[in-house]
Amino acid sequence: MIKFSNVEKTYGTGVKALSNINIEIPQGEFVAIIGLSGAGKSTFLRTINRMHEITEGTIEVDGKDITKYKGKELREYRHTIGMVFQSFNLVNRISAIDNVLVSKAMRMNLFKTFFKIYSKDDKIKALEALDKVGLLDKAFTRVDQLSGGQRQRVALARTLAQSPNIILADEPVASLDPVTAKDVMDDFKRINRDLNITVIANMHHVDVALEYATRIIGIKAGEIVYDGPSTGINEDILESIYGRKLGSDELMER
Ligand code: ADP
Repeated sequence: MIKFSNVEKTYGTGVKALSNINIEIPQGEFVAIIGLSGAGKSTFLRTINRMHEITEGTIEVDGKDITKYKGKELREYRHTIGMVFQSFNLVNRISAIDNVLVSKAMRMNLFKTFFKIYSKDDKIKALEALDKVGLLDKAFTRVDQLSGGQRQRVALARTLAQSPNIILADEPVASLDPVTAKDVMDDFKRINRDLNITVIANMHHVDVALEYATRIIGIKAGEIVYDGPSTGINEDILESIYGRKLGSDELMER
């Protein structure tokens, strides 16, 4: 369970990116965050793994105030949270399995990392993660020979190999074509359902968000203006989140 209490975030520049955030997200939910560019979606997501520090309030995960974590405790906490980015963030010149093993390397010493000394268990776990996203047959293929959708799946497998409790996804399919985007979102959905991993995704395309997430959080100018089931969304609510009627840009299927 993630619990935000009176959270605010003001950047050093004076920009207030989040205000008055009070929200609870139980384990295993699939949440999409929607809103205009600059609304605060990315800041919100990154406060959960402490990539951004909040300036007021508390964030508790499983009853513990994560804003107080330091050093080893913070590193271990971060290891329970996977992150997937729009741009995949993979090393293109190495194989899919080596990219997945990178999540392991973060916990090994430099010597072992440099010589890629992974245990048999680690390699099996990496292959299992690739299997969960349907890419076992591409394990030894260099990432630069894979399609965009396959690359995002490798990124998803990398976070799975970490055995996370929560996956944060920042616009995970915004750079993919509609068919590939759906395939990748199907993987997110399956992993959410089968492994009970909480998925919180910033979504640029509202139609995809409504199709896959069970809960929608609408952010406008740093404040939550809608929090409820995706089935409760209608045109008026979307207009209150976006401040205007939806443009074709916010729809993947035009
Ligand atoms: P979104 O993800 O919805 O596009 P962001 O969370 O990236 O929104 O940004 C929210 C606000 O915070 C915007 O006004 C943005 O310009 C500002 N902002 C984001 N990152 C930084 C930063 N590192 N320093 C200062 N201001 C920032």
